[in-house]
Amino acid sequence: MVQFVRLRLSGFKSFVDSTELLIEPGTTAIVGPNGCGKSNLVEALRWVMGETSAKRLRGGEMDDVIFGGSANRPPRNLAEVGLSLDNRDRTAPASLNDQDELEIVRRIERDKGSTYRVNGREVRARDVQLLFADAASGAQSTAIVSQGRVGALINAKPTDRRMLLEEAAGISGLHSRRHEAELR
Ligand code: ATP
Ligand code: MG
Repeated sequence: MVQFVRLRLSGFKSFVDSTELLIEPGTTAIVGPNGCGKSNLVEALRWVMGETSAKRLRGGEMDDVIFGGSANRPPRNLAEVGLSLDNRDRTAPASLNDQDELEIVRRIERDKGSTYRVNGREVRARDVQLLFADAASGAQSTAIVSQGRVGALINAKPTDRRMLLEEAAGISGLHSRRHEAELR
């Protein structure tokens, strides 16, 4: 089980200033008035885990995750989200990093796309996606239920429901690797 320890955001959606959220063991609740950024925080989690669809982040294109300006603040050209994981039980593949704590950082520059780092070392998006797919907590995972998605889950087709079960069983990472192997 992957334990999230810390989420850092800078320039991501409404979080223009650097913001750090400590995630302690147990339940974390985020409360606040409409529009204060609760869903943006969940989207930051999804994004740093390798989300590739701007639509699932309520945007038209990926650059829309970058702070777009407000009445008194100019837009940014860069967004960065860092997610720290407790890796004391070495659940992460040693090839990524063999440290007690892993920080996965995704950064996007306007018109230049995203880069990923694990503890400072550049890695592929795929490495990050597989890390979370194996931990059954990925960007598409059932572990993250967006606002309004409960109804969609109830109405899911059997094939989609099977994907959800596989995700929950922690075997979707294997499927994904098999698919890659078949393409080679
Ligand atoms: P609710 O309780 O209604 O679900 P919420 O707390 O989930 O609200 P969010 O949807 O996370 O709120 O935040 C919405 C706010 O984020 C809006 O004010 C929107 O303008 C702002 N926002 C979203 N994307 C950006 C961006 N790229 N740049 C600046 N602000 C943004
Ligand atoms: Mg919301």
